[in-house]
Amino acid sequence: MRFVAKQPKEGINVSDTHPLVEASALVAGLAAIFAVIALLLVFLIEVALYFVSAEDEANLFAGWLPDDLTTVSHTDDRLLETQLLVDRLAGYWPEISYKFRVEIDDSEQANAMALPGGLIIVTQGLLDQVESENELAFVLGHELGHFKNRDHLRALGRGVVLSVFFAVVTGNDVAGIGIKAADLTLRGFSRQQETNADEFGLAIVHSEYGHVNEAWRLFERWKVVDNSFIDLVTYLSTHPESGDRIEDMRAHAEREGWKTEGEITPLHW
Ligand SMILES: [Zn+2]
Repeated sequence: MRFVAKQPKEGINVSDTHPLVEASALVAGLAAIFAVIALLLVFLIEVALYFVSAEDEANLFAGWLPDDLTTVSHTDDRLLETQLLVDRLAGYWPEISYKFRVEIDDSEQANAMALPGGLIIVTQGLLDQVESENELAFVLGHELGHFKNRDHLRALGRGVVLSVFFAVVTGNDVAGIGIKAADLTLRGFSRQQETNADEFGLAIVHSEYGHVNEAWRLFERWKVVDNSFIDLVTYLSTHPESGDRIEDMRAHAEREGWKTEGEITPLHW
């Protein structure tokens, strides 16, 4: 039999499936694989974060400040006074493992934040609004409550968790990866976390002053004064309202037998 060389058929190397369909199947497949890996990473990191001690956390974030933070001058009296007040209040938390650093954000909107490594940020707007040390002590005590329950770590956005993870694996400095305060408070807190932080803050205020008078006065003012609405909204963006917060605090103080009357300590500025 004589061999007759034939030309191969046209399109022998071309699949029957349209190239666009094949390409999108490939992209979808890859995306699914990456999504699974990312989810696994996030899950693993959340588990890992749970076991990261406050000391490790403080070391990792030592000297770190959010990228988007503009602080007031470090010679500002309010900074020193607020730091001293935090140190005094933290003294009522015996098993404390943070060394708190206070920074004042020059923002005019009232807010306070608990950030990784024991960093407490209060805004200039908040300091303008508090009328007594008792009011400020409660806001700070509430932030200490978030550290106590380590809510600030659970609130980390996934992007931040991944950035921190890669910084740790590659041996880089967390300070160099450019984390913004907005990313850190992305998820916000749950109602239960807020209630727990309120109760911890009240206990601290009670230990310091022997009563809880004016502890929640700032929030009462925000509720009635129209032009303070923006402050309430800003504050609520990082500390969501938990039902009737003021009523809950009053009821908690009553259950604990804490006095709601007592001498008010003026601010030192
Ligand atoms: Zn809060």
